[in-house]
This record gives sequence, structure tokens and C-alpha cells, in this order.
Amino acid sequence: MSVGADPRPGLREIEVYDSPQLDVPVRLNTNECPHPLPEDFMKELAAAIRDLPLNRYPDGQMRRLLADLAAASMHRVDGVWAANGSNEVLTELLQAYGGPGRRAVMFEPTYLLHSRLARLTHTEVEPHALPDDFVLGDAEVASVIAADPDVVFVCSPNNPTGNAQPLSAIVGIAQGLPNALVIVDEAYGEFAPAASAQALIATNPNIAITRTFSKAFALAGARIGYLLAAPAVIADLQRVRLPYHLSALTQTAGIVALHHREEASALLGAIRVQRDRISRELRTLPRVTVYPSDANFVLFVPPVDAGLVWQGLLDRGVLVRDLSAVVPNALRVTAGTEHEVDRFLTAIKEVLAA
Ligand code: PMP
Repeated sequence: MSVGADPRPGLREIEVYDSPQLDVPVRLNTNECPHPLPEDFMKELAAAIRDLPLNRYPDGQMRRLLADLAAASMHRVDGVWAANGSNEVLTELLQAYGGPGRRAVMFEPTYLLHSRLARLTHTEVEPHALPDDFVLGDAEVASVIAADPDVVFVCSPNNPTGNAQPLSAIVGIAQGLPNALVIVDEAYGEFAPAASAQALIATNPNIAITRTFSKAFALAGARIGYLLAAPAVIADLQRVRLPYHLSALTQTAGIVALHHREEASALLGAIRVQRDRISRELRTLPRVTVYPSDANFVLFVPPVDAGLVWQGLLDRGVLVRDLSAVVPNALRVTAGTEHEVDRFLTAIKEVLAA
């Protein structure tokens, strides 16, 4: 009896990507914004969606959204692009600049989707290692230039380590590899604006920056990501994108969110305060290693088994991310509301005292 069609070779070795959400009171495992969306944003969004002509295809060129994004980002409009989450932007970049016979380098530990999306687009994956402090230096820049890949990923601030990468390293890579695309993933960029590589694009047209509405804009559920790049990169993405890839609902959510971006920016300060409080308090605990963070989360290494600490926190209603498979014995905690951080700090002190 037939067991069905054969998929492409290797496909069934790829695990299904899933980040299960457990139903617990304090969810600090996916780096979302903890604050609910403001009421006037919700009202404006509801009104805008009610009036959409959903019997028609959306604007395939996303004109209004891209114009508003360009204005908000102070970037030329023909250098802006949007898709369903920055994950889709990354996929499109790899469809255009990766692919069979092409190679991508990423510095690990980093965001797992960079290597995963490279594999899914048939791009060869060449992982390089970050140094012990996770900060890109001259040695890493020299080694990636010597490797001569087609695509380089730099995640800044880096997930899961939290640190931003020096702009000098990004320029070094871009100039050492003028024909490679250097993708700077700034999903957490709003938490460290001074570290943005945006100003480098004008003189280094092979730098492309991905950003998202999922973190600082509190819109993870809407799935909106965007790209700032040179116009030639956008022209290449036009060739690989699906027709009408961004729904009218999503485009509208993005436009309304940009209209309310002052309110979103106001929350950034509160999130940074909680992030710094987590770092400070964790550093007072004996034998806990805490890594510096420019993002909305903190990576730390407890003095006992991370799996046990993770479970102990969960037993107290607090969910964090166990990253011990990526950084030895490490846990990552998202900066939540003040109340959520209170709960986390009380729980971690209890677990480590036990
Ligand atoms: N880049 C990094 C570094 C991330 O951590 C994430 C989300 N966890 C993303 C990209 C994807 O974000 P989006 O929701 O925009 O697809």
C-alpha cells in the first residue's frame, strides 16, 4: 500500500517549529510587550477595519503603509518593505540572496530562525561562533570575510544574549564582503536606538535591516515586519514576494499602529526600567551570571540546573525560556510589567534559596 508522496530530501529531518504557550499567570518567555494596546488605538483600528473593501485584493504595493513607515523611520520610501512578521521579510531576503549553491553565515548563539530559514530556502548554513562575551570583534569579522559567504546575519541586539553588536563590526563585514548581503536583524532595535545600523545603509548598500511590530509596537498578533535597505534590495524582493502577500487587515493594523507610535514609544522606557531591575536584582543573587542587555529580556545562568530552575519558576506561575540547548545552563526572562517582574523576582529568589 502506498504511504503517500515523498517530500523533498531532508524535509522530514526538519523539526516543526513550535513555541508552545502554557496557560500560566506570568508569561515571560517570548519577549512580547506586556502592556495591552491603548483603548484609542483599538477604537481607531476597529473603525478602519470596518470600512475596508475586503471583497477586493489589497494594495499589492502596500503604498500607504510603506509611505508611513518611511516617514516614521526617516528612510527613503523606495528602500522600505513590509511583510508578515520580520520572519517573512527574512525568508524573502533568503529567497532573493540565498538559495541553492549559496551560503549564509550566522554568529551563534543567535536567533534560531536565521539558520532554520536558510535551510528552508535551500541555502547552505555556515555557523560561526560569537566570542565568550557575545560581542563581535576583529577576529569574527576577519573569519567571516575569509569564509566569503553570500549572506551574513548579524542580530543586534542579539537574541538570546541581549547585547547589541558594535557598528564597527557591521561596517567591517559589509565593506569586507561588498557582494554579500549583510542582514542586520534589529527586532529589538527600539530598545537600543543608538546601536542601529540604519545610518550605514547610505554608504553600504549591501546592509539590510529587519525590524518588527511584534516587540516595541506590542503587535505580535498582527504579524508585521519591515525592512530598511537600499532600493536595489527592495526591487529584488518584489521579484520573490507572493502576490498581495500582506492582507488589507494587516496593512491597516500597521498604518494605525504608526499613527499611535508615540504611545508605543512611551512604553519603551517602562520596559527598560523593568529590564534593568531584573539585571540588578539577579546580580545580587549568589553565583548567578547575568549578561548585559540592550533588549527587552535578560539572559542569566543560575548556579544550579537550569531545567530545575525553569520548573521551579513554572510551579510558581512564572514561565521563562530555557535556553540551555543554546547557551549552557542559561535561562531568558522577558521584561514584563512591574507586577510580573515582582512575581518573577520573588519566585526566582524562592527557587534558588530552596
Ligand atoms: N528576529 C528576532 C531576533 C526575534 O527574536 C524575533 C521574534 N522572536 C523575530 C525576528 C521575529 O519577529 P516577527 O514576529 O516580526 O516575525
